[in-house]
Amino acid sequence: MTDDKRVMKEITPRGEDYSQWYLDVVLKADLADYGPVKGCMVIKPYGYAIWEHMQADMDRRIKETGHVNAYFPLFIPKSFLEKEREHVEGFSPECAWVTIGGGEELPEPLAIRPTSEAMICSMYAKWVNSWRDLPILINQWCNIVRWEKVTRPFLRTTEFLWQEGHTLHETAEEAEAETLKMLQVYKSFCEELIAMPVVAGRKSDSEKFAGAQRTYAIEALMGDGKALQAGTSHNLGQNFAKAYGIEFLGRNQERLLPWSTSWGSTTRLVGGLIMTHGDDSGLILPPRVAPYQVVIVPIPPRKGDVNEVVLPKCREVLAALRAADVRAHLDDRDTQLPGWKYSDWEMRGVPLRMEIGPKDIEKDQCVLVRRDTREKVFTPLAGAGARIRELLDGIQDGLLERARKHMADNTTHVKSWDEFKQVMADKRGFIVAGWCREADCEAKIKEETKATTRVIPIDREPIAGACIRCGKPSPGEVLFAQAY
Ligand SMILES: [Zn+2]
Repeated sequence: MTDDKRVMKEITPRGEDYSQWYLDVVLKADLADYGPVKGCMVIKPYGYAIWEHMQADMDRRIKETGHVNAYFPLFIPKSFLEKEREHVEGFSPECAWVTIGGGEELPEPLAIRPTSEAMICSMYAKWVNSWRDLPILINQWCNIVRWEKVTRPFLRTTEFLWQEGHTLHETAEEAEAETLKMLQVYKSFCEELIAMPVVAGRKSDSEKFAGAQRTYAIEALMGDGKALQAGTSHNLGQNFAKAYGIEFLGRNQERLLPWSTSWGSTTRLVGGLIMTHGDDSGLILPPRVAPYQVVIVPIPPRKGDVNEVVLPKCREVLAALRAADVRAHLDDRDTQLPGWKYSDWEMRGVPLRMEIGPKDIEKDQCVLVRRDTREKVFTPLAGAGARIRELLDGIQDGLLERARKHMADNTTHVKSWDEFKQVMADKRGFIVAGWCREADCEAKIKEETKATTRVIPIDREPIAGACIRCGKPSPGEVLFAQAY
């Protein structure tokens, strides 16, 4: 028992200091560690396994919607980045530059990619000649560097991993349809895989991607009432085609500019997952991304050796679970007591714990404990695989349900500017309110409440009214929140 308490104490309660709680979970659950360069994290095997499950599922969705993967270079010549004016203005403050190579000053500085529009569009200019070459639907998985001042593991890091899709289309309508299709892919991914509900919508001009015509995003609500942008999809119009000289011969033999899109999702999603589901005991992992869905903890006999009956039985169960396609792990460390192992795996968010002791073996049963509800279930060892798959589905659904309820409980439709300020000061969360669409007014709202416009939701009918702050006409309600 004393061991249990020691482990529990190591995580700061969320109510005391949410941001410290987050760091405790990341470090104590062994997801990541700080690297020697500020803002660059090491993703440890347990954290990386979560990312791999996310990556595999996202990759499948990207391919199912007709895209193919490719890889483009890490270094972008300065002159390439400068071709699109808004784009370079938006990104140069965060660029890292290489100026020396092989001991010699380079003739032209090279940016370490902060995003790959400049690189990929330059190549598309070489590849596209006719309308028959369109559409181009390419995705790349890679690392990105953006020099951040304030960093936090997974949520905002100087180097991060992501996928970036870059597409070219013959018509404006096709490009807009693509932008919205990928936004929907991100939304389904978040809800179906990581059980994180999101609101999809369009960004205001001040929040859109540098060089884009329109930016769409999905926004999730974290445990502390702050929003997290969890994926973005940009309609780039013809801006990049023009800047990078991409042209094609149209069906009527005229030279035309194609329409382009880009869209990305990053390792930030791991941070979103932690803050959507975690509790004061640590991480809670949705079964679909959990590196281990079940951990078996052997209970040694009071007299005699654990190796005689208990461990062999545990190994047999482990093999049966793996054969039933359950990601199972046997914690056979002989240096720790079962109680210590319970809290350890609880902290690491394993969806189900299976306890097997001598008495259980006599009755041919085991004890299953759910991480999300802590409910205990006695289950016959025969057919445990099927029962566990059922429980895992229940946990996955339950987590999404719980997160949806949290979002609904923390979304407030406010009627006055005073109420807006009150809600943002007390409980935060999402605020739904009218906005005049003027950047000045948006900036003042941010100044006074730290809340920004997150998205103009696209999956509901716009309700016209008045701007919550200045009273001018608002064409439709907007989602506000303080954001990560
Ligand atoms: Zn206003």
